[in-house]
Amino acid sequence: MSVSEFNIIEQFFVRKEGDRRDVVLGIGDDCALLNVPSDQCLAVSMDTLNEGIHFLSGTAPADIAHKAIAVNLSDLAAMGAEPAWVSLSLSMPTAELGWLQSFSDTFHELLHHYGLQVIGGDTTRGPLAITLQVHGFVPEGVALKRSGAKAGDLVCVTGTLGDAALGLLIAEHRLAAQGEVRDHLLTRYYRPEPRVAAGIALRVGASAAIDVSDGLVADLGHICKASEVGAVINADDIPLSEAATSVTTHERALDCALTGGDDYELCFTVSEDNYRKVQSALESVGVACYAVGRISGKSGVRILKDGEPLELNKSGFDHFAS
Ligand SMILES: [Mg+2]
Repeated sequence: MSVSEFNIIEQFFVRKEGDRRDVVLGIGDDCALLNVPSDQCLAVSMDTLNEGIHFLSGTAPADIAHKAIAVNLSDLAAMGAEPAWVSLSLSMPTAELGWLQSFSDTFHELLHHYGLQVIGGDTTRGPLAITLQVHGFVPEGVALKRSGAKAGDLVCVTGTLGDAALGLLIAEHRLAAQGEVRDHLLTRYYRPEPRVAAGIALRVGASAAIDVSDGLVADLGHICKASEVGAVINADDIPLSEAATSVTTHERALDCALTGGDDYELCFTVSEDNYRKVQSALESVGVACYAVGRISGKSGVRILKDGEPLELNKSGFDHFAS
């Protein structure tokens, strides 16, 4: 059964419950009207997921909805911003009722969980693609930027790395796994958990932050470039999950942690003086953090394994790389 594309937003994405007070006028007019609190900055980010590029063809609509929200919220988390509003652009080959129902059910579940409200949307016919624009608030002067890292700062990450890249290998039948290990790694790939509370907690003292979407080496490289510094990572300090190390060789798990994408953990830098304060702020929101290296004066990201430089095959996922 199909539905008119003109009715999709109204039928599936407008919900009256949970209306935020800062939304003066939501969906239904030519524009939404919104109030930004006077002492806050508006943090805005947009991400597109294309079928076959950002998610595998045939991925369940609920998983696509989860990922679309998670990757967008991950960018707000990386700035220390609190989620507020979202607009949605949905392109699909045919408007299929069952797909839309399943997608929008999970979509609304997560909106509710993170206190987000849909403020606008558009639907078009075309290859399956989901674009979200998220808006969040961060008090003036405290946003976590990529440009604040200083020589001597510790480089830290939340959670374990490499799980999502291994999950993708499993989903593509390029790696065999069973039981809980398989479930854990697939969940890390299909349903990343954006580190929203951790990002807000990091405001107490992190000097720079980024979310790990393209692999630690590539994303830490962005911090280094913006901060005009370099970094040295100790491969032996990279947090790997038990699932990751049990499903493949240590070397491959490490490679996934350093250069695999889709983990959506946070990588941040912090001075030695602020480390304990930041660590306990993260503990208070139930997030573990690991120091994996240090910012240096030299440019570029170097990796040491057993004290020797480690060469990598690639440095993260680049859409336009050959
Ligand atoms: Mg990002």
